[in-house]
Amino acid sequence: MHELAITEEILNLVVSEAKKNSATKVKLVKLVIGEMTGIVNESVSFYFNEISKKTIAEGAGLSFRRIPAAGRCRDCGHEFEVKDFVWACPHCGSLNINITAGKELYLESIEAI
Ligand SMILES: [Zn+2]
Repeated sequence: MHELAITEEILNLVVSEAKKNSATKVKLVKLVIGEMTGIVNESVSFYFNEISKKTIAEGAGLSFRRIPAAGRCRDCGHEFEVKDFVWACPHCGSLNINITAGKELYLESIEAI
């Protein structure tokens, strides 16, 4: 489960950002996750609840913004949303595709007091 390692990184970032801003308690953590990452929201929530205990992020809510996978055809320039991991251009059928979205994984913002 790579979600644990990822969640640890998120937590470290949240705690250090909160401390930088002299926060005493983190209330909400907003994450952006691309569909290509294969990360499951529920797993991140589960691990976050566990590993944030006794940190200033304990009890913080998590919100997720999912970014659909998207590609751009290198042959015809068509841009499209990728469904079911089918990496072929729906316009010309080319497999020569650039991934343009869906690999996102970052902390968008933190609400803290
Ligand atoms: Zn194409």
